[in-house]
Amino acid sequence: MDICKTIDETRETIRKLKTEGKRIALVPTMGALHPGHLSLIRLGRRYADHVVVSIFVNPAQFGPNEDFDTYPRELEEDIKKCRKAEVSLVFAPDKDEIYDDESFFTIRINRMNEQMCGASRPGFFEGVMLIVNKLFNIITPDVAVFGQKDIQQFQMISRMIEEFNHDIELVMGSIHRANDGLALSSRNAYLSSEERTTAPGLYRALQYIEKQIKSGVHKTTLLIDHQKSELEAKGFKIDYINLFSLKTLQLAGTLQHNQKYILAGAVWLGKTRLIDNILIEL
Ligand code: AMP
Repeated sequence: MDICKTIDETRETIRKLKTEGKRIALVPTMGALHPGHLSLIRLGRRYADHVVVSIFVNPAQFGPNEDFDTYPRELEEDIKKCRKAEVSLVFAPDKDEIYDDESFFTIRINRMNEQMCGASRPGFFEGVMLIVNKLFNIITPDVAVFGQKDIQQFQMISRMIEEFNHDIELVMGSIHRANDGLALSSRNAYLSSEERTTAPGLYRALQYIEKQIKSGVHKTTLLIDHQKSELEAKGFKIDYINLFSLKTLQLAGTLQHNQKYILAGAVWLGKTRLIDNILIEL
């Protein structure tokens, strides 16, 4: 397995990996790898000969009061996990390799970041789209694997690939969960043991709402409000829980048949922000 810190070495290694028409799958991460990331690596291997994992805590996607400084960094451990998962190349650049002190161009997003995490994290998706573009240009993968866990990000990348004409196949990995249903996340490391016990409540609330929808409730306001109150009583602070159109990422009104929706939530438990979602097709 190659480990590259610079763009030049990475490009050189990619050129070698691509000989004889070999295909490359890219799995972008911010490190602190968990079994969810490893499931994306396995998925990548189904679509390509080589899997490249990038590990970069991207400063451009953190707001000034967010957790950039405390975000878990475990590069040595991550490298071991990648080696075991038969990754061909780990790209782990320093910040200065990716960003100049000064930049003259920015990415602007229309509408797709108005709701969900885009509403509560200004600048977040601009930072994500910027780094994903850079990674696509550096690695030039045939396939890129992203998780359903970050469904808004996935839908925006899908649209961005189309609009920016990246010649890349996008593949979605399902949400890897702990036995009690909590979606795995590098940020779960912030949870105290008591919070960790409470944390699966978010997924349970989403599952309850899903069940009610499937049994015919298509006006969901009261149903969702009730689940929010129950979560608040357990100590969660609600950022949002709602239904959104999968295609437009706008709030869904009364649900319609033959439409796809995202039932998504973001909540705080102490200083940890948890997100989760369920895809719903009526
Ligand atoms: P992150 O390192 O959190 O930026 O995530 C890197 C990639 O892993 C993203 O495409 C995420 O959607 C995906 N991911 C994060 N958590 C999970 C999970 N529990 N199951 C599957 N994929 C995940």
